[in-house]
Formats: sequence, structure tokens, C-alpha cells
Amino acid sequence: MSSSTDQRRNVAVRPRNGGAAAVNGFIQNVSSRRPSLNDSLVGDVQAFLIDEDQLHTFDDLTKVNPVTPATVLKCLQARYSLNVFYTHAGCTLVALNPFQPIPDLYSVDVMREYHYATQPQEFKPHIFIVAEEAYRNVRGQLEPVNQSLVVSGESGAGKTWTSRCLMKYYATVAASSPAVSCQDTVERIERRVLDSNPLMEAFGNACTLRNNNSSRFGKYIQLQFDRDQLLVGASVQTYLLEKTRVACQPASERNFHIFYQMMNGATDEQRNDWKMPRSQCFTWLPNSEKQIEEDSFHETVEAMVHLGINTERQRQIFRVLAGILQLGNVSFCPSTNESQPCDLDERSEDFSQRAAELLGIPAEKLRTCLRVRTLQAGKQSVLKPCSQAECEVRRDCLAKVIYGRLFEWLVTFINSCICADTSKWCNFIGVLDVYGFECFQINNLEQLCINYANEKLQQHFVAHYLRAQQEEYVSEGLEWSFVKYQDNQSCLDLLEGSPISVFSLLNEESRLNRASDSKMLRVRLEKELGGNGNISWDKFSKVPHFTVTHYAGKVGYQIEGMVEKNKDPVPPELTGLLQKSDNLLLHEIFSGKETEIPNNKELSKVTVVSKFKNSLESLMKLLLTTAPHYTRCIKPNSDCRPLTFKRKEVVLQLEACGIVETIHISAAGFPIRIPFKSFLQRYGLIAKCSTSGHLDADPDPDSAGVLQPEVEKLLGAVLPHHVSRHDHRSLVHCGRTKVFLTQPMLDLLEDHRKRIL
Ligand code: ADP
Ligand code: MG
Repeated sequence: MSSSTDQRRNVAVRPRNGGAAAVNGFIQNVSSRRPSLNDSLVGDVQAFLIDEDQLHTFDDLTKVNPVTPATVLKCLQARYSLNVFYTHAGCTLVALNPFQPIPDLYSVDVMREYHYATQPQEFKPHIFIVAEEAYRNVRGQLEPVNQSLVVSGESGAGKTWTSRCLMKYYATVAASSPAVSCQDTVERIERRVLDSNPLMEAFGNACTLRNNNSSRFGKYIQLQFDRDQLLVGASVQTYLLEKTRVACQPASERNFHIFYQMMNGATDEQRNDWKMPRSQCFTWLPNSEKQIEEDSFHETVEAMVHLGINTERQRQIFRVLAGILQLGNVSFCPSTNESQPCDLDERSEDFSQRAAELLGIPAEKLRTCLRVRTLQAGKQSVLKPCSQAECEVRRDCLAKVIYGRLFEWLVTFINSCICADTSKWCNFIGVLDVYGFECFQINNLEQLCINYANEKLQQHFVAHYLRAQQEEYVSEGLEWSFVKYQDNQSCLDLLEGSPISVFSLLNEESRLNRASDSKMLRVRLEKELGGNGNISWDKFSKVPHFTVTHYAGKVGYQIEGMVEKNKDPVPPELTGLLQKSDNLLLHEIFSGKETEIPNNKELSKVTVVSKFKNSLESLMKLLLTTAPHYTRCIKPNSDCRPLTFKRKEVVLQLEACGIVETIHISAAGFPIRIPFKSFLQRYGLIAKCSTSGHLDADPDPDSAGVLQPEVEKLLGAVLPHHVSRHDHRSLVHCGRTKVFLTQPMLDLLEDHRKRIL
């Protein structure tokens, strides 16, 4: 690193102003105020003074001038190289992943500094500013408003880290028990809320190519506050657990953490009880030699204990998990005779025996269910032996349904012990940590759902952002009609619209149960949706696919397997078997659940996309009732290395997470807003030198009413006389306290100013 960079690093972390609150050098008083929601696009006069060496000083990207992807990128890079990881972008916070622990950046002392500050916005950008702003909004008003903190970004960008940070912040500053010391700040309900994290992560996270601790589910956690704004409880809603991982792990990736934790952390006694001798290898536990930080069995068990999962329940859980692992080792021989079920291979007799014992079901019944299908023909049932491939599908299906429902049970259990009684809480702050936009080499139903969720969130963001702009325009007395923006409604219509959409056709094919479903779906998509500009096809592609133009880019989806995934069928014989399990937990999880195959009409209601769409709709409804705050996490490089900023990778994420779109929206109206006083300070001399107008006296610094005529006069002097009054209005507006400008108008003013200087 060059010495000049070192110098700048010192500047960046040392408080510049003696009066600034400083904790370990991380908080600094900055010269500019962060724009509030209603004030989100203020282009401060300071912006015009920048040179590239000063880019790192910009705490808000909306002040970079001109706002382009290139300047935004430069600014973020300059800040990253100085270990500055947070930057505002209007009403959004951009968080760059440091990929290394930053001492004291998140300490309890820093939390308190932000919490007790009169104007936290004046401190360095930090996730705690967002946290505190939301907290004050809930707390401070006559009619408190529920808040949502939406954290987005691609896998490994830091969403879950950020969500945890937010939860720790509230568990500390809104602790219901008085804080005694730093260590004692979190206890009782706060402790339990925090303990839900490691537990859910053990069951729902896995080591992937992109993140060693990748969350394989989305979550919205509602932190509940009482009238005194104390944290009194929480509830969690989860979305779309990637349960296929339990039976099928992509190359070089791992299964869910919990299995490795059991393997590495259990005592010999426990391993005996779970029939997991040290010598045994498991097919569904690939890459177990890779040890990661998250492999802490002890921490998971401790969280279970804190949440009130007793030893017997724990034993039931671990035996179910061990049973799944044994099931994964069961393999089948090719069948020699179609009328006979195919055999288990030699060693699989043992594995299936152990699996059955651990799952609390008769071994012979398990073997039969895996290899023989029961078909319902009227009132009669017909038994049909399965092929080797069908047996494997049934085995995987059994593991997935058990794991999926175990995860659901766990979330319900967590909710039952952290959720406060409705009479005890009155407001909430919701933290949303969902998977970011995904575009892989091969994309299927999972990516379609994830990208659909991101489209929904983007639509919500755009609507909210425009509302914030609109409020400012109204309060400044401007008309609203001039803002045009790109919305993503047509893409959403394509995906979820009625009567015909990608989802409706997918559901229809799932219902019809045709053998050639991929081909049919491909034909119908083209025939019925070909007119929508957001869908296209590569005519030369050999595999059936379709390409969707999302707001964040184009994604090609493979159709093969999509219909089957959407049906997510569970043979009723398998669930029937589990209902009778001796393992009390399994028995509880499966009793009361349907064992019948849903009929045609019901099927389209229970498909993966229908269920996901419904849960997302409820989420969007809830989000709409809250005041949102957006944090966009960015991964500076895909190798997860500290101090490495890859411009190409970052720019793609800026596009994908909509920062570029935010800029686009801000450019649609009057992106530059300058308070009258600053405006006159910078351009006043134009009027003084002009014959057609001059300033009467030094304006009263506090009176917008006095300043406004001066501003109008100045604008009159600058605007070309041949431009009609109507055209003036598309270039510049004089509000009640600020001037609203377009880029060409700003260029014109700067030109005039340069000529005079
Ligand atoms: P995501 O949830 O977006 O997939 P994570 O939150 O799991 O990503 O972050 C991936 C990894 O990046 C974390 O395990 C952690 O090592 C690192 N990380 C993320 N944010 C920070 C941060 N603010 N400071 C230090 N390390 C971080
Ligand atoms: Mg995550």
C-alpha cells in the first residue's frame, strides 16, 4: 500500500473534529448530514467540489456527482481501501463485506454511542444508524410505526451477519433487564432471541462454494417491543428451505452443518446411542474433512438448552438426524424382474435396519415402502414394485420430508419460546434476510422462486422510494407528475399474473401429470406467453429452457425437472409409516398431516410455487404496513478475501441489487437538490455579475421566504431567454426551501460560474 493511502487511512479513522464522539476511533463527526428519508436525494453543494482524491470522504453516494455506476464504484473502492465498509445511498445503506473481523466495529460500546447520540446520522455510516433510526421511529412518535429492515445481497455478501448484528443491537440497547456490564447485557428473552440464530443456522445453513456459512432458507424475524420500547419477544417466519440438500449435495459443497456438528462434537456414548461409530462413513456427508468455524456442536446444544429443548427431546432430534444419515447409505440393486421389487445391496440391510431403529419404525415396513408403490384404483389398492431409480427417489423423498418437517417443527418450537404474548407487545421491527438474486450456469425452480422474490422486493423498494420522493416534492410544493421510472410490473405479470403466467402454466402441467411435461411446458410457454417482452428463447439451445429478463439481468431457466420439483410429491405410504413412529418427535411431526394424495384441484394449491407465492404475498402485505429501511450487502470479491475489491464483480452486484436502478430513479426527477442558502453561496455571484438581475442584500441565512425570490432572480439570469417558462420547469424547480435541478441545469450554472471566476 502506498504511503499516500496510508495517510488517507489515518484520516479516515481518526476523528477530525475534537467535539466528535469517538469510540476506539470508529465514530467520526462528518461534515455532511445524512439525508433523511424525505430528503433522500439531496445533492449537497459539497458535491461539486470533489476531486478523485476526496471520493472516500463521501458518506452518501447520492452526493457523488455525477452519479454514474463508474463514480459510485470508484467511491466505494476508495472507501474500502481505507477500511470504510458502510456508505449511504439515499435511503439505502450499502455494506461492503470486510471478510475479516474488524476489532471494535460492533462492540457494545459502539452500539451505545449510536444509541445515545442526539443525531446518530451525523456519525460515520454504520448498520447501527439504520438500527437506531428504526428504533427511534418505533419509539418516538405519537403513533408508532412498525419498521422493516430489509437486508439483501448475493450469497456470502453479509446478509446474515448484518441481521445478527441488528438483533444484537436491539438485544443490547432495548434489553428488558438493566445492563450491568458489557457481558451481562443480554439475558433472558434477549438471550433466547439471540440463541435462535445458532440453532436455526445449524439446521438451515451449509458450507457452499460461495459461503462457508450459507443460509439455505429465507427468514423474516419480528422483534417485538413493549410500550417502553423494550424487547419482549420475537417471532420467525422462514421461507423455502433448500431441503434437497439433505439427500443431494452439489459437488464440493456440504450437507447442513448439524450433521457435521454431530459427527465431530458428540461423545462416544452419544455416538453409540445414534448408531454412528467413528469408523462409519456416510454418503450424505461429503467433504467432512473440511472443518469450519460453524461446526460447533457444543454451541448448538447450548442454544437448545437455553431455548428449553430438554435432553429427551434433543435425543429424539439427534436420532432422527442419525436415521437420515443411515438412510443415505441404503442403496438398491437393479431389478432383474419387473414384477419383483429390486433388492437392497448387501450392506444396506444393516443400514436400513439402523435407519428404521433410529426413526422408530419397523425395518421390514421401511424396506417395503422404499421399494413398493401403492396405487389407489378406486377403493382397491394395487402394489407396484419400483425400479432402482424409483427406489432412490423414494429414499431421498423420505429424507427430505423428514428434514423439511423437522426444520418446520424447530421454527415453530423456537417461536413458542421466544414469541411474547400479544398483550405484552405493541410494535415490532422486522429483519428480513432473504437470498439474493441468483444466476447460475443451470437454474431451475429454486432460482425461479428466489428471483421472483427479489422482483417482488424490488417492486416494493421502487414503490417506497418513489413515495419518499413524492413526499418531499409535496412538502416542497412541487408537482409530482414528471417522474417517470422503470418498474418491473411486466416481469411480475409474466411470472405470477393471471390468468396465464409462468407459474399458472407450471401448476397446470403439475396437475395434468403428463409424461412429457418439460416439452409441453416449453411449447405452452412460447404459445401463451410469447407476446411478453420479458421472456425469450434461444432457438439453438438443445435443452428445453426459457429466459426471463429480470430487473437485475437475464436468467435462463432449465425446464427439465421443473414440473416434478414443483409437485414435490410425498408418497402417502411414507408419511403413513412415520405417523406410527415410536420416536415421539416424528410421531408428533407427522400426526395430523395429510396422508392422502391431493386431488387435481388441490394439487395446484400445494405446489412449491403456489405455497411460495402465498407466503411471499403475506410477507409483502406485512412489509407494506411497515416503514422500510434497506441495506444492500456487497461482496467485494468471490474468493472471500479481505482487502480485495474486484471492480467487475462489484459492479454486477450494484446492478443486481438495484443501486443502479436507484440512481436511475433519482435521475428521473430532479436528482440535485440544494438548499437555498448553499445555492446562493455558490452561485450568488452569477446574479451579481449579471445585468438582468442582482442580489439586493446578503440573504438572511435562516429565512427561506427571503431567499426564494433571490433564487428565482438568479435562475432568471441564468436560464436562456429563448426558453419558454414551461421548459424552465422541466429543468429546474424552486421549492419552499430548496432548488431542484436536473443535470443539464446544473451544468449550465457551473458553466456560468466558471466563466465569472
Ligand atoms: P450471506 O448471508 O449474505 O450469504 P454471511 O452473512 O453469511 O453472507 O457472510 C459471509 C461471511 O462473510 C461471514 O461468515 C463472515 O465471515 C463474513 N462477514 C460478513 N459480514 C461481515 C462483517 N461485517 N465483518 C466481518 N466479516 C463479515
Ligand atoms: Mg445468509
